Amino acid sequence: LRGGQAQRDIPFAQPGSLTQVFAVASGKGGVGKSSLTVNLALAMAAEGRAVGIVDADIYGHSVPAMLGVADARPTQVEDLIMPVPTASGVSVISIGMLKPRRDQVVAWRGPMLDRALVQMLADVYWGDLDVLLLDLPPGTGDVAISLGQHLPGAQVLVVTTPQEAAAEVAERAGTMASMMHQRVVGVVENMSYLTCPHCGPSHQIEIFGAGGGERVASTLASRFGYDVPLLARIPFEPSLREGGDAGKPVVEADPTNPAAVALREVATRL
Ligand code: ADP
Ligand code: MG
Repeated sequence: LRGGQAQRDIPFAQPGSLTQVFAVASGKGGVGKSSLTVNLALAMAAEGRAVGIVDADIYGHSVPAMLGVADARPTQVEDLIMPVPTASGVSVISIGMLKPRRDQVVAWRGPMLDRALVQMLADVYWGDLDVLLLDLPPGTGDVAISLGQHLPGAQVLVVTTPQEAAAEVAERAGTMASMMHQRVVGVVENMSYLTCPHCGPSHQIEIFGAGGGERVASTLASRFGYDVPLLARIPFEPSLREGGDAGKPVVEADPTNPAAVALREVATRL
């Protein structure tokens, strides 16, 4: 990235753009935004949609590793950056791929974050995407504000765990989206329960409590005056973490896994 101004307009912000844009947001980190983003992308691609991902978690970028393309480098054609294609045909761009060295730390203040975000949207050759997914950093900081300014037409998917503390901050992230005139398309509750491996599939252990997803969905719906559905409750599944760590997300690595089934179901609803 040049650190300068973008060379072109953001295609997804043009009137008549046919690309659905979904920003995956949450109040706190570690709730599964990136895992959800990569799995939804692969599930949508498997439905035949052309999918791109912008890893907008500039400091905490993790999408390339989860997709097994951490060492890939985007090529440049004239002044356009070509996104990195995964084996499944999802196009990805991340600051992690644009840094000279993988271990380099990004230490930027707000204006640089904004420029980086705009360049990943405008100076990357995305082609005709059906869907663009943005993996946001947690919270209501610079990136969320920038995104709201540059892509007011983006729809926001709010991720929470069942935990009260996560739900409360997730509501703030959702409210922020609405302040930026973005529509909250739904809530996904992740790490909802663990199926006890010794006691059969009907025995669910609620590790992080219960009710967070329903709480966020109903609070946002009453605040905004439109329906905000709870799209899924995704179980805690070791396969999901293993898939992310191995660079092969669970929807592909273990497609019959209950988390994979739930994630594909969300993809069909978006
Ligand atoms: P975020 O992007 O919100 O910070 P991540 O997607 O990086 O969250 O998830 C945090 C950690 O939790 C990762 O190690 C991930 O593999 C793991 N994880 C996420 N969702 C699940 C789940 N449903 N079951 C098991 N592990 C999960
Ligand atoms: Mg993340």
